[in-house]
Amino acid sequence: MELAKLVEKNREAMVRTLRGAVRIKSVQEEALPGKPFGQGPARCLAYMLEEAEKMGFRTCNVDNYMGWCEYGEGPEMVAVLGHLDVVPEGDGWTRDPYGGETDGTNVYGRGTMDDKGPTTAALYALKALKDSGVPLKRRIRILFGTNEETGSRDMQHYLEQGGEIPVCGFTPDGEYPVINGEKGIINVTFEREYDQTGPLFLEGIKGGSAFNVVPALASAILRCEPAEGIRLLEKYGEKDPKVRWEVIPEGLKVTAQGVQAHAASPEKGENAIGRLLAALAPLPFDPALHQTLAFLGEKIGLEVHGESLGICLEDPESGKLSLNIGVIQGDAGKMTLKINYRYPVTKSYGDCAPKLDAQFADAGFQKVSEAHKKALYVDPRTDYIQTLLQVYGELTEFAPKTICIGGGTYAKSIPNIVAFGPIFPGDTVREHLPNEYWEIDKMVLNARIYAEALYRLAK
Ligand SMILES: [Zn+2]
Repeated sequence: MELAKLVEKNREAMVRTLRGAVRIKSVQEEALPGKPFGQGPARCLAYMLEEAEKMGFRTCNVDNYMGWCEYGEGPEMVAVLGHLDVVPEGDGWTRDPYGGETDGTNVYGRGTMDDKGPTTAALYALKALKDSGVPLKRRIRILFGTNEETGSRDMQHYLEQGGEIPVCGFTPDGEYPVINGEKGIINVTFEREYDQTGPLFLEGIKGGSAFNVVPALASAILRCEPAEGIRLLEKYGEKDPKVRWEVIPEGLKVTAQGVQAHAASPEKGENAIGRLLAALAPLPFDPALHQTLAFLGEKIGLEVHGESLGICLEDPESGKLSLNIGVIQGDAGKMTLKINYRYPVTKSYGDCAPKLDAQFADAGFQKVSEAHKKALYVDPRTDYIQTLLQVYGELTEFAPKTICIGGGTYAKSIPNIVAFGPIFPGDTVREHLPNEYWEIDKMVLNARIYAEALYRLAK
């Protein structure tokens, strides 16, 4: 096929473009005038737009939030959504994370796989289409985001500025085959104040570090008379082998062990906070605090699907709702909880959030903040999904099928986009890790897939 040859012809140029992009450290920094995400992301955007211009594409820089290049004519537009910002390099590198090194087989450095490499592949896919001269009915636009890793304010700005919405398209910032469903994600913070006067006193409670991580450790300090501490230890200390009860000078220390996991699949872990709350639930605290702990211990505890809260939604496309208490932080008078829950792709916020909120309100909690990202779902029979699957099936040895995930990809940031690549089944995931690199052959294969897909979507 002609397109494949045209992509292959530019193998060296593709590597050169990617190496240049990797050499620009594009981690979000403090905003500068006209540079909302700092120097690095703006420089990398300017670089990619210049590369696109050299290929003869129209380009546009949208206030250094993002930019795009475009080819073709027609009233409708097909888009590829990539991003040029990266996460910080972190520790453990044996190569320069911003050296753009290559040994002829791989390109090394932060962003090679996520997402400078795949974005470069998309750019060269568009170049192959242009070089081929095939007639197209739709324009093709490559969107270069610069804030995917830290909030997607890039695409928010694009939409606010009246940026054109594609009729269809994909983001090479997920995995193959086609991710046609992503659960809705809600991060909610609740707070509860209470008075304590009784003989058993909660001094402090803590566990977890982020909404989206199942915590592996949680602990509470209880103040009480030594005799009462021993009595509680004897009564409750043996119930759960993963909860340790220790007599300490001020009373008792209760520590729960869990197993860390990503909140998108909490069933793969064990929530230490839930375990701790279940252990504390029966203790004779003052009524207000007792009610709070009993509610949390009994309605959540170690459950990961919101069963006892009555919000265990489920659909055949994406399975059950998942729920994770990510963080607990409390002292003698106030407790804060950070909860991450994800509802199935065919359900909505209204199917679960009001129910959960009402029960927390009944238990004396106040909702202090909430962030919601709607579910994404495109029927797998939709034409453009079928087109992507066909191309993938023809150009790889893998089975073309759609998948639904619990995580959220960049696809959610603008309408009519699904995640398509760049990671093939069985590939090692190196994004966000030390020594990130990408195989040049994989980049070229991605460019071939994208060229063919864009051709069929735009012809
Ligand atoms: Zn990414």
